[in-house]
Amino acid sequence: MAHQSSPVPRRPRVAVRVGSVPVGGDAPIVVQSMTNTDTADADATVRQVAELARAGSELVRVTVNTEEAAAAVPSIRERLAAQGVNAPLIGDFHFNGHRLLTQYPACAEALDKYRINPGNVGRGRKKDEQFTTIVEIACRHDKPVRIGVNWGSLDQELAGRLMDENARLPAPKPAAEVMREAMIRSALDSARRAEAIGLGHDRIILSVKMSGVQDLIAVYRELAARCDYPLHLGLTEAGMGSKGIVASTAALAVLLQEGIGDTIRVSLTPEPGGSRTQEVVVAQEILQAMGLRAFTPAVVACPGCGRTSSDYFQRLAQDIQAYLRDQMPVWRNRYPGVEDLKVAVMGCVVNGPGESKQAHIGISLPGTGEIPVAPVYVDGEKTVTLKGENIAAEFQQLVADYVVRRYGAR
Ligand code: SF4
Repeated sequence: MAHQSSPVPRRPRVAVRVGSVPVGGDAPIVVQSMTNTDTADADATVRQVAELARAGSELVRVTVNTEEAAAAVPSIRERLAAQGVNAPLIGDFHFNGHRLLTQYPACAEALDKYRINPGNVGRGRKKDEQFTTIVEIACRHDKPVRIGVNWGSLDQELAGRLMDENARLPAPKPAAEVMREAMIRSALDSARRAEAIGLGHDRIILSVKMSGVQDLIAVYRELAARCDYPLHLGLTEAGMGSKGIVASTAALAVLLQEGIGDTIRVSLTPEPGGSRTQEVVVAQEILQAMGLRAFTPAVVACPGCGRTSSDYFQRLAQDIQAYLRDQMPVWRNRYPGVEDLKVAVMGCVVNGPGESKQAHIGISLPGTGEIPVAPVYVDGEKTVTLKGENIAAEFQQLVADYVVRRYGAR
């Protein structure tokens, strides 16, 4: 079995507990997601949080934007717990968070973390008062806070001030650089203020999300160098489909490789009718592809070419991947370590046996003009050659047997 080379070690960060989940310190990089249901609709929200958590989201954020939403949070928490779903819940607050958290103390208690956007806490004089109220409630309930600055709602007073100062310099810096500095200052100044109010240094997580890949990389590099708070990474408004996946992966991979990032979210716009869980799967796949964490057995499949005789091989690769993912809720506990399993499904014998030998178990389907047989390799040795109509079912059984043998009670 070939192994990936080790990634860059993570930058030292303070450890923050979010409910039962550690973030920062020595903890693994945490995957999180956000619901898109109306939180006041407790049925829909419970269903979606459970779906996200079962897909592997280790933290789930819900918007808390109205009194009805705040009132629903405690029952959402209880109903999830009754289903055995204990992923910490994060409340996302904008403009009226101070009021909702004050008026709904059960909501303040049921949430495991509050997310505040310094650009959306309030305007003018009220901004500081309302920020103070939220932080005091966090202190009282012993909850961590994410100070999440967002490019689209950056504190305009601060941005304007820095722009004016820059304009007076003999050699003004480019506007994009000044805006990035405004994002960082907004995060760090807010964190400093939160600590002055009484929030512990180990109760703060920061994010400075932007929608451009290069801007995001630049702003997080700078932020990582200027503080030791754990950092939540995400490209905001990444977009739909392959564009969103590629842009998020490009940005996050560069930062993760430099040891920056303690928790990640991939902000994808779901296709109409598509599952919200796609953002969890993509986040896991980024971490797994980089060798930073393992969540689900990996299927290595060749892209297929003119030697691939039919779409049989694509279907087999897809079916095996779906089968492995479907088994994980049970296998995760029953077969510890199974997430490291590597299965190869190859379209012909040109690269098939070589790639199969590098996997725990691999199959090479017959390509055009080849004898209609499919050699299977287990732990680098050819063990059997499948033929006939049932190659897919027989190979799936061989994978299942291998998992029991290798990862079952030892
Ligand atoms: S393994 Fe065979 S079928 Fe797959 S891409 Fe390579 S040559 Fe083509």
